[in-house]
Amino acid sequence: MNKIELILTTLEKMYPNAKAELFYRNNFELLVAVILSAQTTDIAVNKVTPILFKKYPTPKLLKEAVLKDVENIIKTIGLYRTKARNIIKTAELIETHHNGEIPNNRKELEALPGVGRKTANVVLANAFNQAVIAVDTHVARVSKRLGLAKEDDDTLAVENKLVQLFPQDKLQKLHHQLIFFGRYHCQARKPKCYQCPLIAVCQYENKNLLK
Ligand code: SF4
Repeated sequence: MNKIELILTTLEKMYPNAKAELFYRNNFELLVAVILSAQTTDIAVNKVTPILFKKYPTPKLLKEAVLKDVENIIKTIGLYRTKARNIIKTAELIETHHNGEIPNNRKELEALPGVGRKTANVVLANAFNQAVIAVDTHVARVSKRLGLAKEDDDTLAVENKLVQLFPQDKLQKLHHQLIFFGRYHCQARKPKCYQCPLIAVCQYENKNLLK
């Protein structure tokens, strides 16, 4: 078994049910939820989106929303003022430029307020099954420790390497599995190297071998 197969098999054993923790029922809700999730936990976002989506279930309704009302609904999450403005403006652009449909390409997605490369990748992967992978802090750290990317690679370089190394049809789940692995096992400060099934292929120099 080569290294890539070993990583895939191990992550599948550890996190067979890894998937997005964000709540959404359609592409519009996915896009809004991902915009809201920047620098905030999925759990915090999931607490506000049921109320938000009940009141504003479509881009058409959200673009007409009063800013203060949206701010009130999402005020428990970080950067809520900016995010409230962004999702209203995004809804307006989706309605006026895209006939109410979420764009299925990076260029148009990244032109929406609050949508950067990571957000666009999450939408492209989850809504349109495209072979992309969003790289967050966990994905980047784990990729570097496992030698899938170089220490000084930026986010885009890590993303490109993962896309080249792994089969296309594995990327979507791999994204979630790497996040789980980084969050619960290979943490930034105290990785559980002493019980790591990937230690044989890991290139991290400061392994934590003591419990
Ligand atoms: S050996 Fe340690 S640093 Fe390497 S992947 Fe496992 S937990 Fe992470």
